[in-house]
Amino acid sequence: MLLSELTWQDVDRLDRDTPVIVPVAALEQHGLHMPVFTDSLLLDAIIEQAHPSFTDNALVLPMTWLGNSHHHLDFPGTVSAAPRLWIDMLSGLVDNFITHGFKRIVVINGHGGNDVPGRQAMFEIRQRYRERNDLLLLFATYWNLIETPPSLAAELEQDEMGHACEWETSMILYLRPDLVKQHEEVKAVSQSGSFQPAQRAWTMPDRSQAGHIGSPANASARKGEELLGLFSQGFTDLIQRVNRWDGQSWNG
Ligand SMILES: [Zn+2]
Repeated sequence: MLLSELTWQDVDRLDRDTPVIVPVAALEQHGLHMPVFTDSLLLDAIIEQAHPSFTDNALVLPMTWLGNSHHHLDFPGTVSAAPRLWIDMLSGLVDNFITHGFKRIVVINGHGGNDVPGRQAMFEIRQRYRERNDLLLLFATYWNLIETPPSLAAELEQDEMGHACEWETSMILYLRPDLVKQHEEVKAVSQSGSFQPAQRAWTMPDRSQAGHIGSPANASARKGEELLGLFSQGFTDLIQRVNRWDGQSWNG
């Protein structure tokens, strides 16, 4: 069910064990060759593709496209909420559904910069309701929900998600080829970390002047179709696990 199409009485009639799906993404620069709405377009497509499998068993919110993108602010067109503000916005939004009696809330994320603040928001809400034992508060970034099958992995240059990279460019090439500019000419930017296993704080110009990380030149619509199908399946599997949860136990 799409929340945007229901009345408040429709919502009030729902079983409070219905999973509430909160999609969060971003509006931020995606290199020289892709539009700023890339993350939001991709997450919308993944949810739309997955939605028929749980149409009656989950309540899906409209996309929250304002993300935490401060590390991209050197690039015009990027819109960002600072981390603390974003944490408070997301935890407030989730809190609204707890107030209305819902117990199973899944934040599905489509932007790397939301990962740390998103998990922090869910942590804080759990502590706010620490006397409850019936809440399931999940935060999931879509590309972490699947293992890449060997047949596809053999074709992909990258073995993990980057930024405006082979994976994202492939998916936009499949969905909206009209929005991709000359990705074949974009030089690869290494995805390797720095000072590992320490985590180095970064802004995009530390790593890439053009604004991408990874190998967009290797993208194709066919890889994109396959990746979108996999990610939609990973998301569907998660919602089915949430539906099967017994309401009490740690694992589901
Ligand atoms: Zn992206």
